[in-house]
Amino acid sequence: MGDSSLATQQYWVDDSRTFDTINPKWLVIHKTAGFHTLAELGSYFQTNTAMVTSHYGVGLEGEIAQFVHENRGACANCCLSSGHAAFLPDDGRNFNNWSISIEHIDPATDNSTTVPDAQQQASFALIKDICQRNNIPMRYGDANGGIIFHHDLDPVTRSRCPGNYPYDALWAYLDNGGNDMANTDGWPDKWNDDGKTLTAPNGGKVGGGFRQYIYHNPWDNDDYPITDEIHLDQIEQNNPDLGGGNVQYFRKSRLQWAPKHPEMGCFKGWVGKELKFVMDKSASDAANDKAEDTKDAANVDTLNKEIASLKAQLNAAQPPAGNNNPVVSDAMKNNVRQLGTVFNQLSQEVGL
Ligand SMILES: [Zn+2]
Repeated sequence: MGDSSLATQQYWVDDSRTFDTINPKWLVIHKTAGFHTLAELGSYFQTNTAMVTSHYGVGLEGEIAQFVHENRGACANCCLSSGHAAFLPDDGRNFNNWSISIEHIDPATDNSTTVPDAQQQASFALIKDICQRNNIPMRYGDANGGIIFHHDLDPVTRSRCPGNYPYDALWAYLDNGGNDMANTDGWPDKWNDDGKTLTAPNGGKVGGGFRQYIYHNPWDNDDYPITDEIHLDQIEQNNPDLGGGNVQYFRKSRLQWAPKHPEMGCFKGWVGKELKFVMDKSASDAANDKAEDTKDAANVDTLNKEIASLKAQLNAAQPPAGNNNPVVSDAMKNNVRQLGTVFNQLSQEVGL
């Protein structure tokens, strides 16, 4: 408990705007969707009629402000909406009593601004500090707590909160114990960049936003491209909402760009989830094909039996040798012709 010494600005909101009870298990990350400064945000928290507040705010230049003490509940999250992260307990609780919230200034109303380096470093340091003092697990949340994002709670109205945020870089930072704030910018070892195109040791090439992504995020040296950037009408089979866009396959991952969701920027797809969906579908398609084949085989069998029976009738219908009775002979010829026509039709159906 206590408050973070990293906050150098304070815009306290009145206690009447906050909750008495707090037992912080989750740290919730937000973006402001439209503010420029922490002073503006503080003034809004002190006066807005909806009583919205957060504990902390991180500015674009890495400055940190506090608005609500950590021993009070801020009003940033409230309740779950349908489609929320499955691990969050759906027991009607007010999540403001169970969380500490950090806002990040983003002037864009769709939270699409790339987090500047200074803001990123301050955000990561603040997250580490809050987690350590409150015993919040320093990893993506689960039922026992951790770091979550507003869209985990409310994917219906807050799907773009926090929007463009350096998720992968945060996990890399925390995986590293938050000890090394080394700038992760740079090209993977032994890859070559000519200022426009990045070439991997296997000769694979990466350009545009995907090249930028690799520069700004941790990237395995051996995660070579195995295709060019290609267009897909549906990026993820398991998530139709993403819509169409561009992807590029790498040995271990897939980079994706969904024009329908510009706030996501270029991002790594959840390839395990997608692979499982596609494998399950492929298994189910194969089972259906097999059932269809069994049915076809049964039909062919029935037709073959009919043909055999007709052949037998044809043989039986041959006029006895030396029979010169023209009446009997014509009737027999007619029968033979009719049976022959049916035989031909059936033969075509089963492809004899
Ligand atoms: Zn939010």
